Amino acid sequence: MQKVKIPHKVDPVRAAAKKLDYDGYIPRDKLERLAGVVETVLSDAEVRLSFSVDLQGLTVIEGSAGAAVKCECQRCGDPCELGLSADFHYTVDEKKARDLGLEDDYDFADLDEFGELDIYNLVEDELMLSLPMVIMHPEGECEMPEGGVYGKIVTENTESNPFAVLGKLKKS
Ligand SMILES: [Zn+2]
Repeated sequence: MQKVKIPHKVDPVRAAAKKLDYDGYIPRDKLERLAGVVETVLSDAEVRLSFSVDLQGLTVIEGSAGAAVKCECQRCGDPCELGLSADFHYTVDEKKARDLGLEDDYDFADLDEFGELDIYNLVEDELMLSLPMVIMHPEGECEMPEGGVYGKIVTENTESNPFAVLGKLKKS
């Protein structure tokens, strides 16, 4: 099945009334904010979205998004490719959700002056939130310089135990 481009903006109330589903992509050149925090965005964002009205009458937007990005490894400084993925669960009826005591069950999406939801913005927020706090290669997969050691670990050992250095000398 050919992937369709996700619409940039949707009226979520109408989309929910029609129970619209989208399975498509957002072109990577539209992910400018994400591109600003990583080294390179490597792929389009794959996006699934469903609009519905739930049992409490809330307009709900559920879905998932994924994208591949390249960052700098914070351990070795080499490029590090990363697959981002996010699941989300929004409603546009913040007041109603709070009145029902359901504010913890949803994120709240704001609509623009035309009552439309900026889907690109929402997906980009989710992908940025899914970035790990510290981006590193998996343990043991960093390219280390010849004979290199993890500088930080060595320093910590030396500080906490001055004899560690002696022990090391003896062994060698
Ligand atoms: Zn690394």
